[in-house]
Amino acid sequence: MGKPVFIVLLGPPGAGKGTQAQMLSQRLGLAHISTGDLFRKHLREQTKLGRLAQEYMNKGELVPDSVTIAMVQERLQEPDTAHGAIFDGFPRTVAQAEALDDLLRQLGAQVDVAILVDVPEAVLVERLSGRRTCRAHGHIFHVKYNPPKTPGVCDYDGSELYQREDDRPETVKRRIQVYWEQTGPVVEYYREKGLLVKVDGNRPMEEVTRALLQVIPPVGNGAIEEA
Ligand code: AMP
Repeated sequence: MGKPVFIVLLGPPGAGKGTQAQMLSQRLGLAHISTGDLFRKHLREQTKLGRLAQEYMNKGELVPDSVTIAMVQERLQEPDTAHGAIFDGFPRTVAQAEALDDLLRQLGAQVDVAILVDVPEAVLVERLSGRRTCRAHGHIFHVKYNPPKTPGVCDYDGSELYQREDDRPETVKRRIQVYWEQTGPVVEYYREKGLLVKVDGNRPMEEVTRALLQVIPPVGNGAIEEA
């Protein structure tokens, strides 16, 4: 087995990171680690961590680093990360980026590439307000740009599609602002390390996927050759 591959997807809320990470993880056989999805799962299950995260999430603020990092550390223990992972929505602060470097170092690995998915702000707001998310597994649709076969029903698992509380316009603007304040320096962090690649996210989904596949290093499980 080759070396595991770890990819960081960066970009403001609505850039399409989640949709792309979902697609790439299936295609490449890599784990999809979305901290937003993990927090929402904790929230559904009403764990202590879920209740703590809820306060921050509803305001569009970031959950504290120590909590987020511990959750990712735990997630990295799961066997589906053997070939590597795609991080979606993490790291969002420089402290998280440094912690991720440490965690991966302990596994004998590192971040191979950090990809910034670039989309103009007006497009982000339109995308987020039309976004619908599946209750069971967080699969993502858009009422106009990526509609499910049956309105309100997830194509993959038949569960209900809903609008996330934080996808409402007031919270969306705050999330985009928080993103650039807190995560702007993370973009710089990876640029300085020579790991940053920018991909234009303002085009059809399949084209973005193709562009992403071109900048991702080969995965040691042969998945790229089969794709
Ligand atoms: P997302 O689904 O990535 O847009 O995340 C939804 C919300 O979960 C964010 O607005 C934050 O409150 C929280 N969250 C997700 N990922 C992180 C992270 N890496 N650090 C801190 N908070 C996060």
